[in-house]
Amino acid sequence: MLEFKNEALVNFQLKENKEAMEAALKKVKAELGKEYPLIINGEKIFTEKKVKSINPGNVDELIGSVSQTNRDLAEKAMEAAQSAFSTWQYVDPVSRADYLFKAAAELRRRKFEFSAWEVYEIGKNWAEADGDVAEAIDFMEFYAREMVRLASPKALPPFPGERNRMHYIPLGVGIVIPPWNFPLAILVGMTTSAIVTGNSVLLKPASPTMIIAAKFAELMEEVGLPKGVLNFVPGPGSEIGDYLVGHPKTRFISFTGSKEVGLHINELAAKTAPGQIWVKRVVAEMGGKDAIVVDASANLEAAASAIVTSAFGFQGQKCSAGSRAIIHKDVYDDVLKMVIEKTNALAIGLPEDNFAIGPVSDQGAYHKILEYIEIGKTEGRLVSGGSKAEGNGYYIQPTVIADVKPEARIMQEEIFGPVLAVSKADSFEEAIDIFNNTEYGLTGSLYSNDRAHFEYAEQRMHCGNLYFNRKCTGAMVGAHPFGGFNMSGTDSKTGGPDYLQLFMQAKSVSEVF
Ligand code: NAP
Ligand code: MG
Repeated sequence: MLEFKNEALVNFQLKENKEAMEAALKKVKAELGKEYPLIINGEKIFTEKKVKSINPGNVDELIGSVSQTNRDLAEKAMEAAQSAFSTWQYVDPVSRADYLFKAAAELRRRKFEFSAWEVYEIGKNWAEADGDVAEAIDFMEFYAREMVRLASPKALPPFPGERNRMHYIPLGVGIVIPPWNFPLAILVGMTTSAIVTGNSVLLKPASPTMIIAAKFAELMEEVGLPKGVLNFVPGPGSEIGDYLVGHPKTRFISFTGSKEVGLHINELAAKTAPGQIWVKRVVAEMGGKDAIVVDASANLEAAASAIVTSAFGFQGQKCSAGSRAIIHKDVYDDVLKMVIEKTNALAIGLPEDNFAIGPVSDQGAYHKILEYIEIGKTEGRLVSGGSKAEGNGYYIQPTVIADVKPEARIMQEEIFGPVLAVSKADSFEEAIDIFNNTEYGLTGSLYSNDRAHFEYAEQRMHCGNLYFNRKCTGAMVGAHPFGGFNMSGTDSKTGGPDYLQLFMQAKSVSEVF
């Protein structure tokens, strides 16, 4: 087995890559508008009730429509998953890992095609789409290796006259509920980690990106994953979500999404249903109000670039998005000026034409973000953007609001769109206090050239992923285990050495000789 290595990102400046992407966009365009089934126990089920997925960058374009799971079908999927678990749990972990290696290889071969689906279905530009596909490959390569590592029993300190060991065994049937913003990477990471550890899964994809999810379910079928190990059950979270989370046979829930839904799931999962014989485990990764802190000693140009990339990459729709910038008063005007220039230079347009800025995910998000911009205008000084943008979709100008007080709503609440709040700090220490002054704690970044300040920040900036002199988005599988503190979630550290244990339980075995 080769050592884990992150998948290289595609350089679209190269002619052959640009052409490959254009060809993939053309191929996928010809496939738009199809109908997709549920998959339960390997059976493709088309239902009467279907939900449409549209291109947020061109709302007249139908990506496809997806059959929806009702309660009866959810129950059927639960039974299929239970039945599959009865054998899948005993399959050699190394064989289980092979399904992930095989799927990673297949995804690598079809990289451009999957990127093209992301461009159409959720409005990522080419590089953002490619980054998501590469991360999906990384997750499978990483978790497969992790499973191989964890497959051998753990050596325990010797006890006279006994042979002792500890194994990790799977939990049971898991409900996997991913978000739409990394429609492949997060979905693939959450699903394959649960599967490779020997569990069976009901995958309920996020509604805005059901087609990409369906494509992945198809891919797992192609690599020969046994029937019933992965059941694909799209449907509105609010309708089947509660049923699945509350089900007595549900052993664990792996969720990534908003704070509100995460807390709701946690609460519901804590109630014991009649017939339930375990305490459900909940892994919930939630929102963020991440920030970049700029110290007086920082490289200001680099800091300004990182602020703009972190705030506006994929229209600010990343849990790690740097939606706040906290700048030392001595360099505030200089950094702000550069941030405004760089923001004004971002071109907005159709994702398939690879503009820097595309649409936001859907109509609900569009209206919510525009409302926050209006709130922001009353909480600070609008210095860039400030309204919707042209186009047949959910386009919003990248917006910068300066001179915002730490307590302001746009400094406290996750907007999940292209809105940056900028705050001035009187000292480095005050900047760190402002950084910590939210209920979240996902990512953070400090730009500085002062070693003592790095030491101070390493102890006091309270976030799961802290970066020095680097943007606060784009965590790499393996190198940057990912997950946040406080209301950002359970700090599961995806892509890290502790992640797979969350889907297993340790069994200790002793034999007296
Ligand atoms: P969301 O609205 O909370 O939805 C997440 C998932 O939960 C979707 O599949 C959704 O299905 C489902 N859901 C909704 N209500 C449910 C219920 N009652 N029971 C069970 N499932 C339910 O979040 P989102 O809009 O997809 O994603 C954006 C959020 O995710 C942001 O807050 C972002 O910060 C967070 N996020 C966090 C991380 C992290 O690692 N910490 C990573 C990425 C994103 P429907 O789509 O059908 O409603
Ligand atoms: Mg949502």
